[in-house]
Amino acid sequence: MGVVKDGYEPKWSDKFYLPAILKGMSVTLKHLFMKKYTVQYPEEKWIPPPGHQGAIRLNRDPEGRVKCVACEMCSTACTANCISMSAGVAPWDVREIDPVRFEIDMLRCILCGMCEEACPEDAIQLTEIYDFSAYSREDLIWDKEKLLKNYDITADGKYFERSKEETGL
Ligand code: SF4
Ligand code: SF4
Repeated sequence: MGVVKDGYEPKWSDKFYLPAILKGMSVTLKHLFMKKYTVQYPEEKWIPPPGHQGAIRLNRDPEGRVKCVACEMCSTACTANCISMSAGVAPWDVREIDPVRFEIDMLRCILCGMCEEACPEDAIQLTEIYDFSAYSREDLIWDKEKLLKNYDITADGKYFERSKEETGL
């Protein structure tokens, strides 16, 4: 347990301030030669580490069809209640049900990843995209097409090599 000294009397060296100044300067000098973490965004982009949880995508199967079967497991698990969908009859034989409407309100999403954990079809996934924004609230309510586009621009792992025009974000 620490002892609180009453009537602290500074030593002569404390009054001189030089040791404290030198100590502070040594910290400054040390940081001058350390690796810099400043990134000249947006010309230069910070690459997040593997496992980073960013914007959401809907995955496609090898034939390019949305993998989602509109089971609503993700919306049930969603902690922010920001996923909504409507199911319809799938236009292909491999599955019966397809999401005719699938929306995520990214204004409410907290990127917790619970939807990804809950999905039995590996159809919804968080991506490395952290640099998304919009000028209106409506533009941050992402529909099925937008979520599939997120798959298209991230599936090959080259999202950060793409231009802003390519990504549309
Ligand atoms: S990441 Fe979390 S908050 Fe966002 S849609 Fe998925 S479950 Fe909901
Ligand atoms: S994304 Fe997965 S959990 Fe959500 S409705 Fe589609 S298949 Fe079900």
